[in-house]
Amino acid sequence: MKLAKRMSRLGTETAFEVLARAKKLEAQGKNIIHLEIGEPDFDTPKNITDAAIGALNSGFTHYGPSAGLPELREVIAKYVSKTRNIKVDGENVVVTPGGKPIMFFAILALADEGDEIIYPNPGFPIYESVINFIGAKPIPVKLREENNFRLDVNELKKLVTSKTKMIIINSPQNPTGGILTKDDLGVIAQIAIKNDIMVLADEIYSRMIYDGEHHSITSFDGMPERTIILDGFSKTYAMTGWRMGYGVMNKELTPHIAKLMTNSNSCTATFTQKAGIEALVGPQDKVEDMVKEFKKRRDVIVKGLNSIPKVSCKTPQGAFYVFPNITKTGKKSKELADYLLNEGGVAVLAGTSFGEFGEGYLRLSYANSIKNIEEALKRIKEGLAKM
Ligand code: PLP
Repeated sequence: MKLAKRMSRLGTETAFEVLARAKKLEAQGKNIIHLEIGEPDFDTPKNITDAAIGALNSGFTHYGPSAGLPELREVIAKYVSKTRNIKVDGENVVVTPGGKPIMFFAILALADEGDEIIYPNPGFPIYESVINFIGAKPIPVKLREENNFRLDVNELKKLVTSKTKMIIINSPQNPTGGILTKDDLGVIAQIAIKNDIMVLADEIYSRMIYDGEHHSITSFDGMPERTIILDGFSKTYAMTGWRMGYGVMNKELTPHIAKLMTNSNSCTATFTQKAGIEALVGPQDKVEDMVKEFKKRRDVIVKGLNSIPKVSCKTPQGAFYVFPNITKTGKKSKELADYLLNEGGVAVLAGTSFGEFGEGYLRLSYANSIKNIEEALKRIKEGLAKM
């Protein structure tokens, strides 16, 4: 079989590969602690699953509009207007199966071959993958530990050229848990406006903040019209398998993103959209409980990692990942991640799964019980001592 050339430019998300390898080891009888996959280990709140069941029973089993059910688009617009302090309505919203398609569609709709897109590195691997896939040029902006993994706005300025079409930002960030300050966002906004650049603001972890608060770049004048906010239900409401996300953007762009939906998925499943309405308008106490629990786990994992010789770990402010520095072990990230999985029974990801600037780090997801996190820390400590 001869694949199309473009397939060689498509990357992947290593978390799914490591999960498959971990499952294989489990099938052979090994006990593995999963700190590789980025999904809340909580169940979707019952009021949301009940809303989906109710929708199925009342006939929401057909196609819907490509941009999403009008009532859900309105509810999302209200939620985003309130949480970002901006004014948007349903026509600014496109509902997609997960937040991920918004990356694909926004890049596809806005960048031509040869255009440059600046993205965080280490960062969510799909940004670089999609940029390469469509023939645009990925321009990484390095996130440094000494800067709490916030991008350096002066470095960003230097990367902008006449070909820069888009800047991708992600706060709170995967894989580092870093968050951008209001000042950072203000400078990025100035750069975007001055150079006529669109911004893809991946805010999927906006509700998962432990210190400080979430700021959206859209709160700056002139930014709502040049920003695509990516958000969704996967992380906030423990709905990863439901595939429910959305983009909020200017009204000139929505029909084009909706057209990409028509061409690919037709629409997002309609009964899940009804559940999405319940998620946003129903009680939020389960989200608050989940965030409180994540904070406790964060503190346990950061303290534990810092007590392991040759490992150091900054305290992340958001999301549910830690990104410990392992350079003192003398091992490359991938080698150490493989060793910990095969010898220690702990599935983690190499920092390089998030780009070349992730070398020297591991990514651990703390979406697991404190008991399992403590056991994983013990195994990592013992494993490193034996190395
Ligand atoms: N953006 C970031 C930074 C993520 O980490 C993820 C998922 O891991 C997504 C977007 C995609 O989320 P969804 O499951 O809604 O497609």
